[in-house]
Amino acid sequence: MNASPADQLRLLDLAALDVRLRTAEHARKNPPQAVRVRELMQRRQELSQELTVRLGARDDLRTEIARIESDVAVVDARSARDAGRLATSSNSKEAQGLESELQALARRKSDLEDAELDLMDRLEQADAAVAEQESLIASTNAEGAELSAEAKRVVAEATATIEATTRDRAAVADGIPDDLLALYDRLAPRSAGAAMLRRRTCEGCNMVLSGTDLNTLRAAAPDAVVMCPECGCILVRTEESGL
Ligand SMILES: [Zn+2]
Repeated sequence: MNASPADQLRLLDLAALDVRLRTAEHARKNPPQAVRVRELMQRRQELSQELTVRLGARDDLRTEIARIESDVAVVDARSARDAGRLATSSNSKEAQGLESELQALARRKSDLEDAELDLMDRLEQADAAVAEQESLIASTNAEGAELSAEAKRVVAEATATIEATTRDRAAVADGIPDDLLALYDRLAPRSAGAAMLRRRTCEGCNMVLSGTDLNTLRAAAPDAVVMCPECGCILVRTEESGL
């Protein structure tokens, strides 16, 4: 196939636009933040499960404390009643019995208060554990929201690039003869499509061409369309080709 050197050069513009299109399409489908956003969603789920466990532990402590407080109220009522009876009792045997019961109630109350203090300590720790988990979830959510917004910006930018580049590509393709464009379109899916030969190196595959291959290229007419023997793309020769 033959094509003027100028038309062959236009293929390089086309190839550059196709690289830009592919990069933008990749960014649109898979913004760099997407992986981290998925990780954060997974993490938030784990954190929420742990929060449920911690809230449950705190509820249990609160229930236990309420039960102890109600036990203390029972002991107080009983003590008040016994004290009242003791104050009015004229029977020494009964008075003795009431006194020993009052002592037992006082010991019971003291035990309950010790237990309550211990539970209050544990409740304080449980509150801190819940707060710590809630703050982890909040910072995970904040990071997720920030990254999602960034990803949206990247996608919007890539979409704009794709639209503009598609228009540019159509304009460049319009200036290229049909048969040359068809050849490029056929080669592009499995190579650079077209690349410059610069300093004896194909810029499509970065291979330095052998002496034999360079001799073949030297012998080819300027408007002959030649291929890279290494990667099969259209090799565009210029002053910088080193031939
Ligand atoms: Zn090549």
